[in-house]
Amino acid sequence: MENRKLTTASGRPYYEHENSMTVGPRGPILLQDFILHEKMAHFNRERIPERVVHAKGSGAYGTFTVTHDITRYTKAKIFSEIGKKTKTFLRFSTVGGEQGSADTERDPRGFALKFYTEDGNWDVVGNNTPVFFIKDPKKFSDFIHTQKRDPRTHCKSPAMMWDFWSLNPESLHQVLILMSDRGTPQGYRHMHGFGSHTFSFYNAQNERVWVKFHFKTQQGIRNFTNAEAVEMKGKDPDFAQRDLVAAIDKGDFPKWDLKIQVMTEEQAADFRWNPFDLTKTWPQGEFPLIDVGVLELNENPDNYFAHVEQAAFAPTNVVDGVGFSPDRMLQGRILSYPDAHRYRLGVNYEQLTVNKCPYMTANFHRDGAMRFDDNGGSSPNYFPNSFGDVIPDEKYKDYPMELGNSRADYYDRNSGPGDDDHYTQPGILFRDVMTPEEKANTVANIVDAMSGIEGPKRNEIINRQLCHWFRADMGLGMQIAKGLGVDVESMMPKRHG
Ligand code: NDP
Repeated sequence: MENRKLTTASGRPYYEHENSMTVGPRGPILLQDFILHEKMAHFNRERIPERVVHAKGSGAYGTFTVTHDITRYTKAKIFSEIGKKTKTFLRFSTVGGEQGSADTERDPRGFALKFYTEDGNWDVVGNNTPVFFIKDPKKFSDFIHTQKRDPRTHCKSPAMMWDFWSLNPESLHQVLILMSDRGTPQGYRHMHGFGSHTFSFYNAQNERVWVKFHFKTQQGIRNFTNAEAVEMKGKDPDFAQRDLVAAIDKGDFPKWDLKIQVMTEEQAADFRWNPFDLTKTWPQGEFPLIDVGVLELNENPDNYFAHVEQAAFAPTNVVDGVGFSPDRMLQGRILSYPDAHRYRLGVNYEQLTVNKCPYMTANFHRDGAMRFDDNGGSSPNYFPNSFGDVIPDEKYKDYPMELGNSRADYYDRNSGPGDDDHYTQPGILFRDVMTPEEKANTVANIVDAMSGIEGPKRNEIINRQLCHWFRADMGLGMQIAKGLGVDVESMMPKRHG
């Protein structure tokens, strides 16, 4: 590696990195040694909040390759043709332990995958098990407290865990899997991954099916026995991290086969369990696994903190052709994951290298701590506006979610009876309530405020707003137009004949 000059954070090359500036060789340190401050202050701030769950993790970049055609189920561009490759980032984790905890704890394992697709990043934020302990997000914080430390002893507490599980028998399926040898997988390469939730797929005709994602390890399942896992905690608490990095470093790239289960709406209506219940699976005999593609991890990130620690996944991140479902836990995670990232990494976390969509992003979010792109430059930061630039594409309109007799959709806020009457009440206020003096003042205030409109769209904006004043009250519109020096005649539609 080529040598580079040592510099301050602001780029000033400097020399003295080991000795502080003192008054004489044995005197106190001078306040002006700002390099000392910079070193100490930065060090003090090295830790960001630990993830409240899934704190201990490992991650790598990879490639997803489509091997089978599933375009009859989804129009997601990532699946558009056999052979198509998409860059990915996968983070594995344990759930309950802190950052320094052992990789071989008996615990589910996180399996969080980001596909960098041309339609935006798609995150499948799952686990190595197809089910979970609870089925309603209201129970999540209570459940996790039982997996963490006792508030008094600050130790893990089997009493807390089994108290909660025994009071919540919906946990039994996941507890059984946890207590099997799959509760202590031998590293991350020898376990399956599951999207766990039910999601939806939409095809080009906007026909919907429900879908579950399975990532089957090509390395084969390998687990530690309880005794081996306990022993490994002492020998090498970072076993899974070391194993993953070593395998990828030597070119032994781990792979998983992506398979899906598909359920039609009719099948969902007849299913003997709730198809959106995260404590249940869909029997593979009835809903067979369908081949989709292969995921390969082939690149270790060159910096753990930048890529693995700052990685932020959210089930919110779906792409066109993939949608949500009524799974209550999924609905809860749609709120809590981005919320957790905003707390842990800051509101601009999607701009961090590992999270950033490599394709274009354009929106009206601005500012916030650590905004380090061009912040939208000089383009408008509000919508709607008269300047174009960023416009919603109707092609990406969400398909309504039909559920029994109801329909979840983005209903037009002005579509109900009287909803688009923005004029009658302001008209009454101006005509019948305001005194002559208030009227005069109000008109003068509006003229004064609207006189400040400048720029290439001045006339367009003024005319549009004048039309609203006219619709509220002709007299009000006329007085404002006069005050602004607008030729009202020229605004009126021409009469023919
Ligand atoms: P099958 O009888 O067709 O297959 C059994 C499944 O269980 C296989 O996928 C197998 O994984 C998996 N398995 C084996 N041992 C364990 C374990 N200790 N912990 C978790 N999974 C294990 O499955 P069915 O669909 O008929 O369902 C039967 C039961 O299998 C379910 O009640 C559920 O507990 C479990 N299961 C079901 C899954 C599903 O999505 N339907 C997924 C995973 C488990 P492998 O592929 O390695 O053989």
